[in-house]
Amino acid sequence: MLNGKTALITGSTSGIGLGIAEVLARNGASVILNGFGDWQAAAEQLARHEGRVGYHAADLADPAQIEALFDYARREFGRVDILVNNAGIQHVAPLQDFPAERWDAILALNLSAVFHCTRLALPDMRAQDWGRIINIASVHGSVGSLGKAAYVAAKHGVLGLTKVVALETALSGVTCNAICPGWVLTPLVQRQIDARIAAGESPEQARTALLAEKQPSQAFVTPQQLGELALFLCSSAAQQVRGAAWNIDGGWLAQ
Ligand code: NAD
Repeated sequence: MLNGKTALITGSTSGIGLGIAEVLARNGASVILNGFGDWQAAAEQLARHEGRVGYHAADLADPAQIEALFDYARREFGRVDILVNNAGIQHVAPLQDFPAERWDAILALNLSAVFHCTRLALPDMRAQDWGRIINIASVHGSVGSLGKAAYVAAKHGVLGLTKVVALETALSGVTCNAICPGWVLTPLVQRQIDARIAAGESPEQARTALLAEKQPSQAFVTPQQLGELALFLCSSAAQQVRGAAWNIDGGWLAQ
């Protein structure tokens, strides 16, 4: 379905980004990976599929490195047809103790990088009158949680940005939507489980309590399920899905 298309998935060396990259690659897309850590293992996993696999190590907190990432994408792949703005970080602390440096880092990656990647992807998408911009927001784009000021502020911002981009591209073949996951068991969430274990809960208690507090299904969303939803948003059936914030959260936001 995606043969001949190139997908850039930010933060795709682990977790949700890697899950989305796997599903898009399995469906024929060439993929450009980005992120820190063991990118070779991710690239090897995806090389089993038909499309090409690329990697760029840009730190997306730095707009100049985002420019370099897009230069690489154009030089090596021609253009970006599908942009998945996925890279994100978390820090949990009450507001009065929240380090200002963590606030700046979270806003730079979780919100400003979405702006920069989108602004750099749009000209080529508009020129060919087809494109897909998929922002991995969160349930925290719609509701708050204790200790997550920067993350919640950034994710609310991502949903606002998604709506504006959807309106500005409404007369074109480019769509922009957000996916809003609940708990997904990735390194980002494992660190929050580890914090509960450090505070005295058993590993089983920590996982169960984390889910029970927020996610009525008491089951984690999986990166694979998120990949399949992203694939749907890339399909022609989703051509008129525009500016949506699609919850995939085990019922978190139904409460
Ligand atoms: P993760 O920690 O597993 O992966 C994050 C990815 O981003 C990694 O590839 C990492 O190397 C990369 N990254 C980190 N800092 C970067 C930087 N400065 N520049 C470039 N890449 C960078 O996290 P995840 O859980 O897969 O989260 C992915 C996205 O999904 C995030 O935007 C997160 O907010 C969102 N999300 C996660 C959950 C969840 O429960 N895990 C829920 C809702 C939303």
